Amino acid sequence: MTRKQKRMLVRIIVSAALMVLLAFITLPPVARFVAYLALYLLIGYDILRKAALGIIHGQLMDECFLMAIATVGAMALAIVQKSGDYTEAIAVMLFYQIGEFFQSYAVGRSRKNISALMDIRPDYANLEGEDSSIRRVSPDEVAVGSIIVVNPGEKVPLDGTVVTGTSSLDTRALTGESLPREVAPGDSLVSGSINMTGVLRVRTQKAFGESTVSKILDLVENAGSRKSKSEDFITKFARVYTPAVCIGALLLALLPPLVLLVLGRAPLWTQWIYRALTFLVISCPCALVISIPLSFFAGIGGASKAGILVKGSNFLETLSKTGIVVFDKTGTLTRGVFVVSGIHHNMMEEAELLEYAALAESASSHPISLSLQKAYGGLVDHSRVSDVHEMGGGGVTAIVDGHQVACGNDKLMRSLGIEAMPCHSIGTIVHVAFDGAYAGHIVISDVEKPGAKEAVRKLRKAGVGRIVMLTGDSAKVADQVARDLGIDEVHSELLPGDKVDAVEDLIAHKDTKASLAFVGDGINDAPVLSRADIGIAMGAMGSDAAIEAADVVLMDDDPMKIAKAIRISRKCLVIVYENIVFAIGVKLICLALGALGIANMWLAIFADVGVMVIAVLNAIRAMFVRKL
Ligand code: ADP
Ligand code: MG
Repeated sequence: MTRKQKRMLVRIIVSAALMVLLAFITLPPVARFVAYLALYLLIGYDILRKAALGIIHGQLMDECFLMAIATVGAMALAIVQKSGDYTEAIAVMLFYQIGEFFQSYAVGRSRKNISALMDIRPDYANLEGEDSSIRRVSPDEVAVGSIIVVNPGEKVPLDGTVVTGTSSLDTRALTGESLPREVAPGDSLVSGSINMTGVLRVRTQKAFGESTVSKILDLVENAGSRKSKSEDFITKFARVYTPAVCIGALLLALLPPLVLLVLGRAPLWTQWIYRALTFLVISCPCALVISIPLSFFAGIGGASKAGILVKGSNFLETLSKTGIVVFDKTGTLTRGVFVVSGIHHNMMEEAELLEYAALAESASSHPISLSLQKAYGGLVDHSRVSDVHEMGGGGVTAIVDGHQVACGNDKLMRSLGIEAMPCHSIGTIVHVAFDGAYAGHIVISDVEKPGAKEAVRKLRKAGVGRIVMLTGDSAKVADQVARDLGIDEVHSELLPGDKVDAVEDLIAHKDTKASLAFVGDGINDAPVLSRADIGIAMGAMGSDAAIEAADVVLMDDDPMKIAKAIRISRKCLVIVYENIVFAIGVKLICLALGALGIANMWLAIFADVGVMVIAVLNAIRAMFVRKL
């Protein structure tokens, strides 16, 4: 509890006790009025102040305004009627404050929960100096390429690669994955994970601001700023609703007595004014105004606990309507870790061909390039390579040791006017050309991710009608993968631009209510990620392009998380609708009862606080997503 909340709690308790106490004391009328007025001010001064400020700033129509009018009105009525019954006005204020207190406590709690979940911000880094001395510094003071030491139990402060040491890492806060990850020299480390067992010396690869941990915290902290349609609706609704209610109350106070006067009967002014005030209390829209954003907030929090980062509540809303899921193949459904399964038609030594290919590819971050580097095994001397050009969805050309080397698929070869030798093996074929002449090809193959097939099945089970795979790879490989995974629609041999066209075509011909989700790894498909109704980036730990372009980021490579993300979003939206219907429904019933004079102010405030408490508790349900 914050200090402010504690103070409020004390105020509520003291006021409630005083209210009970005053009920048992008989005082002369003036003293009684003064005592109750003091109590009223004690419990309600901040509401009255806010209402007054609202009036000064011309923003009349908020809850404080409604509460102030209703309670001041009730006090005034008690004076006019000489009844001396001031309890009602005070009770209304008291319950309203209890409701507000509960709400701020709940919001505070869930905010805290979420930031605890995302407790990945490192406090310091152990920087190793030239003389191997260790200095504890702030992570943002560490330059790229420095050596830092991460002891067991510490958070990894910056992205980097292990130089010495082995250990297991707890990445749960980042990925929702509870199995520890083993690392050894050469492996890359993601900031925000926790080193569990061994001491690691790490060479940093990114500055703190560019590290995964900063990107993610940024994303989580800004998730609230993108509003969903439901939230917009509530804002607009409140703008029309409150004035409408005020006018309604005014009419209720004036019209019936006037009609009665015209009819020649007693106008019953106080009775109708009292009903109008009750009507005002009932109509306070707090439950709606608070519970909708809180539901989304809880949904986003629950998702991040599962390693799914959603950049805003609007995306949660779109995600819940997913009707088509479009997959990229390499790195998304397959692991993107290729192994060389053959080298054919080579005009030079196999090892030499591989060396030229690896050197030409040395600047590319494509999974194929990384795999060729690995197969080559040697250290790449960057000074041997120059003039690198990468053709997305094709391959690369470069000058290596003064020779023109081209390395890629038959599209690339065709564009260079070189005839590529076809290959009969199934696999991704990397053709290599040397000084403009064909020099052979390397057959590499990728494996499907373990969860890919299950992921497709789960998506169908979640009611996604259409699942499509787009790839730049050859038709042979694409068809094979699609058959294995149970995907019926495949488009292959696409350039990055073709993928955008394919997705636009799908969007143009789909049911307007359903949304299209594209799932990719950000390599050669960032434009599609931003074009789709909702872009989901896979295994984005480290890939900046994907984190920027995507709307939803899956922290680990697991394609199974897509169905989970959809289910989380649906649960959250069901809760949002439940709250809207429940809150508006109860309000309407109470309003009718109030207008008929059946509901009094006590009932009104109970209904209001009750609805708010239930709606907030319901909203918090959105955070529990483990079983989804
Ligand atoms: P996917 O759509 O399956 O993710 P990409 O669009 O990234 O595939 O690449 C499509 C094809 O383009 C690859 O299968 C490969 O043949 C070729 N290609 C792309 N980049 C490279 C590269 N750096 N080296 C060799 N070939 C490449
Ligand atoms: Mg790809």
